Amino acid sequence: MNILVLNCGSSTVKFQIISTDLEKIANNNDRRLVRGVIEHIGGEAICTMEAENKPKSRTTAQLRDLRSTVDFILRWACASGEGPEDIRSISDIHAVGHRVVHGGERFTQSVMINDDVLKSLDDCIDLAPLHNPANIKGIIASRDLLGKAIPQVSVFDTAFHQTLPEHAFLYALPYQLYRRHKVRRYGFHGTSHRYVAYRYRTIRDIPRDQVTIITIHLGNGCSATAIKGGNSIDTSMGMTPLEGLVMGTRSGDIDPSILDFLATKEGLTSHELESLLNKQSGLLGISGLTNDMRELLEEAHENKDRRAILAITIFCYRVRKYIGAYLAATGGTDAIIFTGGIGENAPEIRSQICEGLNWMGLEIDQSRNMELTGGSEGSFSKPGSRLTAYVIPTDEELLIARDTARCVLKGDPKA
Ligand code: ADP
Repeated sequence: MNILVLNCGSSTVKFQIISTDLEKIANNNDRRLVRGVIEHIGGEAICTMEAENKPKSRTTAQLRDLRSTVDFILRWACASGEGPEDIRSISDIHAVGHRVVHGGERFTQSVMINDDVLKSLDDCIDLAPLHNPANIKGIIASRDLLGKAIPQVSVFDTAFHQTLPEHAFLYALPYQLYRRHKVRRYGFHGTSHRYVAYRYRTIRDIPRDQVTIITIHLGNGCSATAIKGGNSIDTSMGMTPLEGLVMGTRSGDIDPSILDFLATKEGLTSHELESLLNKQSGLLGISGLTNDMRELLEEAHENKDRRAILAITIFCYRVRKYIGAYLAATGGTDAIIFTGGIGENAPEIRSQICEGLNWMGLEIDQSRNMELTGGSEGSFSKPGSRLTAYVIPTDEELLIARDTARCVLKGDPKA
């Protein structure tokens, strides 16, 4: 079946069409028919799209909202000459899989969307006011444009982390705040952590319940997850994606009292403080230059820029601290997996993170580490290293398509 995978943000939509079914999943031969991204929705949008075996196209279009964007994607995909060979009309799209950021405590796995599910997604808006509204609009737009008969599935960033035990998900705040407002750690990037854990067990040919690893997703957003017996038992992002590792523009962990201190000293409102922590901090805030790791590495090498070097050092040090914490949380782990734009493409960052971890049995093969970039997958620890290290490129869209196929074809997203 052909599955449209939608990742709808407020001004950006990433999409793919993936051909998959239970047999293709079993044989790992799903086909990617289309991939694309539409940016600057709300005005003159920039549309970059590529169908299988066809050249990439880049155009602009006036797209005022998500509905017109989904409509644009469907028309493009069905247009002869531009879209993929397999899609001739919208009847060739058999289901839609949506990335939904927050599923609260209700959703522990992917689900078929019905009115009841949509209502629950609405209830989660308080928890993810920046993300869930766009995800919901994407669902409604697809239902309007493709018809109610086309099944739609919601795949949550939070679902994989619903196995966190109470001692890992509760903050040490008055307990009634959890009861009243569900203030707790939810964790995010769950689809990515789950996908690389699945790839790891496939590469190693081990059963799910024997997967005890630390997965580290380093992209614009960054998070680490401790996985024991196949389940997420702790993760660095919290009630929102702000907690934990240093990110492109997000601070990660800070002392919460800093907020009140800055409100007084700098006269900042809560809205301004939130923007400071989410948009002006992290790599950008420390370096004063950029949130882009590639550019920071260039600055560090070419100009020996002190603050670029400092930003990279703090970034790597924070990841290393979490590795230490999650080694303790898992009671010893078999592998550390790197993924995301930085994790997959920056050997220097991987090497700096792993520096000095020999004491816990991690021995890095530097030449192998340098080879693993640009989407390649494999181990970069020395043979015989007690703790192994891997690069595994993430593929959230593939996981969303497969969950959608499994929900539609067998009523259950589980592999
Ligand atoms: P998102 O979280 O938005 O999906 P990505 O996973 O694409 O982001 O990661 C983006 C980050 O990856 C940026 O900081 C970018 O500079 C970094 N990155 C991509 N390629 C490289 C590279 N070759 N070397 C270093 N960093 C890279």
